[in-house]
Amino acid sequence: MNTINRRDFIKLMGITTAAVATPTLGRAAGGSMAPQVVVVGHGFAGSTVAKYLRMWSNQSIDVTVVDPNASHVSCVMSNLVVNGRLGLSDITFEHALLQQQYGVQFIQDTVIGVENNSVLLASGGEPLAYDYLVLAPGIGFEIDDYADLDFAQTPHAWIAGEQTTILKQQLDAVSAGGTVVMTVPKAPYRCPPGPYERACVIADMMKRKGAEGQGGKVVVLDMNPKIIVEEHMFSTAFNGIYGNIIQYIPNVTSIDDVHSASKTITFTENGVSQQLNADVLNFIPVQKAGKIIEDLELNTVDDRWADINPVSYELNAGGDIFVIGDSSGGANVSKQPKSGHMANSQAKVCADAIIRKIAGQDLYATERISNITTNSACYSPITLNTATWLTAGFYYDIGLGKMLPVQASLGQAELHSNDHYEDMFEWSGALLSDTFM
Ligand SMILES: Cc1cc2nc3c(=O)[nH]c(=O)nc-3n(C[C@H](O)[C@H](O)[C@H](O)COP(=O)(O)OP(=O)(O)OC[C@H]3O[C@@H](n4cnc5c(N)ncnc54)[C@H](O)[C@@H]3O)c2cc1C
Repeated sequence: MNTINRRDFIKLMGITTAAVATPTLGRAAGGSMAPQVVVVGHGFAGSTVAKYLRMWSNQSIDVTVVDPNASHVSCVMSNLVVNGRLGLSDITFEHALLQQQYGVQFIQDTVIGVENNSVLLASGGEPLAYDYLVLAPGIGFEIDDYADLDFAQTPHAWIAGEQTTILKQQLDAVSAGGTVVMTVPKAPYRCPPGPYERACVIADMMKRKGAEGQGGKVVVLDMNPKIIVEEHMFSTAFNGIYGNIIQYIPNVTSIDDVHSASKTITFTENGVSQQLNADVLNFIPVQKAGKIIEDLELNTVDDRWADINPVSYELNAGGDIFVIGDSSGGANVSKQPKSGHMANSQAKVCADAIIRKIAGQDLYATERISNITTNSACYSPITLNTATWLTAGFYYDIGLGKMLPVQASLGQAELHSNDHYEDMFEWSGALLSDTFM
C-alpha cells in the first residue's frame, strides 16, 4: 500500500510544533511559587515534553528532568552506527543543550520510587517534589527466564550506546563464512520495522565481506507469524538482494534459552524445539515499559504497559501522573507505534494538557479534542546507500474516545532507493533537533 507519494510524505512528516493550539501562560506573579513538573527520562519523549513545557508556558513552569545519563544516545539512526556510516557521537545529545536553551533543570540520577508527590532518587538525595509527574522511561526487557544471558556477550543493541558499539565490534570481527542469529520480539515492541531493518543492515555487512561465496548466513528468528510491517519491502529484500544470506524463520513461539558464553539460542518453532549456534547472537528480547513503571505497579496493560488517556497522556487512574513514549499503552492508544517520532508527538499533546490544567482550562473543550493528532515515521536503511520509509498519522475520535489512524496518512515506500536514503537524514535531522535542541 502506498496511499501517499514521497513528496506528500516529506511535507506530512515535517515535525509539527503544535498538536493543538496551546494557551500561553503568564509568568507567576512575584513571589508565588511556579508549578513544578518532574520528568523521568531524557529520551525522545522526556526531552520533548520538557522543552515544550518551558517554551509553551513562557518559562513559567519549572521543569526538572532526571536521567542516569548526562547525554542520550538516540536509537533512531543507530543501525547506521552498526554499519559504520555514522559514529556514536553523531547520535549523542547532551542534556546541557536543553538547560542552556530553555532553562530545563537536570539531575543525573535514577528515579526509584514515588511517595507523597515526590520522586525518590537512587543516590539517596533529597526527594524531588512535583505538582505534575511525567514518566518517560522507555522500555524494559522480559528476560527473567534466561539465567545464562549476558548482554555484554550477546548484545540486544535495542537501547543505543555501549550496546550498539558491542554489536558493531562483533559484526566487524565475524568472518565472511560466519553465522549471525538475531531475533524479532513479539509485537508490540520499540520500532516495528527496526528488527527487519537490522537484518538488512547485517546482511549487507556480511554481503560486503563476501558471505555469498563463503556460506555466511543471517538467521532471523521472528516471534510473529510474519513480517509485521512493510512486508512487501522486507520480504523482497530478504528473498532478493539478500536471498543467499538471510534465512527467515517466522512463527517462533518461544525463545526458550539463551546461553551467551557459547552464543547458543534454543527456540520453539511450530511446536518443535531447535537449537542454533552463532558467531554473533543479536538477541532482541520481548519488551515492556521501563522498570520504574513496573516498580510503581503502573504496568496494568497486559502486565507490560501503562494505561493512559490519549487526551493528555495522564494515567487513566489519574493522580497527575503522565506516561509518554514507549512505556505508554492501553486500548485508547490504539495502534500508535512505539517510535521516537511518536514519542515526540505524544510529548507535545502531554505538554499542552499540563499547561491547560495549570491554566484551569477544560482539556475536553471541542476546539482542543477535535485537533489532537499524533504521527510517526520510521526510515530503514536497506543497503549502505539506500533506505525505505513507513508513516502513520492518528487523530482523536471524539465518539470512540480513542486514537484512530488517519487513513490518508498511512504510507510506505514501494522500494528502497538512494533518494529515500538522502531523505532519511533530512527527516532525522528535523526530529533530533526538535527533540534534543
Ligand atoms: C534500531 C532502532 C531504530 C529505530 N528507528 C526509529 C525510526 O526510524 N523512527 C522512530 O521514530 N523511532 C525509531 N526507533 C524507536 C525509538 O528509538 C524509540 O521509540 C524512542 O526512543 C522512544 O522514546 P522514549 O522516550 O519512550 O524512550 P527513550 O528514548 O529510550 O528514553 C528513555 C530514557 O529514560 C531514562 N530512564 C529510564 N528509567 C529511568 C529512571 N528510573 N530514572 C531516570 N531515567 C530513566 C533512560 O536512561 C532514557 O534516557 C528505533 C529504535 C531502534 C532500537
